[in-house]
Amino acid sequence: MENATRFNTKAKPTWCPGCGNFGIQNAIKKALLSLDLQPHEVAISSGIGCSGKIPHWINVYGFHGLHGRTLPVATGLKLANHKLVVIAEGGDGDGYSEGMGHFIHACRRNVDMTYIVHNNGVYGLTTGQVSPTGDRGFASSTTPHGAIEWPLQPLALAISAGANFVARGFSGDSERLGKLISEGIQHRGFSFIDVLQVCVSFNPSKSYKWYQQRVGNLEDEGHDPTDRTKALEAVFRDDGRLPIGVFYRGSEPAHEEGLPQLAAEPLVKHDITDVDIRPLMEEQV
Ligand code: SF4
Repeated sequence: MENATRFNTKAKPTWCPGCGNFGIQNAIKKALLSLDLQPHEVAISSGIGCSGKIPHWINVYGFHGLHGRTLPVATGLKLANHKLVVIAEGGDGDGYSEGMGHFIHACRRNVDMTYIVHNNGVYGLTTGQVSPTGDRGFASSTTPHGAIEWPLQPLALAISAGANFVARGFSGDSERLGKLISEGIQHRGFSFIDVLQVCVSFNPSKSYKWYQQRVGNLEDEGHDPTDRTKALEAVFRDDGRLPIGVFYRGSEPAHEEGLPQLAAEPLVKHDITDVDIRPLMEEQV
């Protein structure tokens, strides 16, 4: 493959040594290379958090946005130029707390993009507050006596909100995660990938070893990803294992397929030099 370093930047990531974000970043690059994409064909939007810095360190179009707003930005990118491969990403705090409303509606809207959530159960950038996916009992700076709330189950939320590609990966297996991301990009419509991400600094008990002892591949178990009920059963299984892989894959048409304005060419290519927008502007004042 020609120029396998084309997605590298000169700047080096500033994540803590051993952070799971390195594995996710590698997996994204592997996926883009495996699909033979070029930097100008891809855009990544991110929210706020350690994970939000990814657009700085992958050589594609990037937009580092506001907390919880990666999905609206990604939606705008895709609708403005639906020929771009669009990846939205952020952390579990960003996506499942500040951005939860956007997440649910992105699942049912089905705009063709891939949403990758770095799920480490903690707000790392702000030095260790429990997040919506933090375990019950997790002692953090905001829960010194242990969290008393139940953690969210994002995969179940996505499946029940109508998402057509719902998967889970592990930051310690960037080979398999890269394949999942590549599958997500190729899927037409909204692809959601929750990634079990190690935060060595603020959630060290969920270490690489801890995950390696628990993750197992759904595919090896003969899971049928076309069955929504079976997908939910796989999410809620209670045998101490953490399945990774594709839980659910549907085939609903992508949002853009219902927009005739996009049929001919991307909106950014529409010639608007002779369009008089003054009446429209006057209407708004
Ligand atoms: Fe990674 Fe946690 Fe360090 Fe943030 S605080 S860079 S998530 S290890």
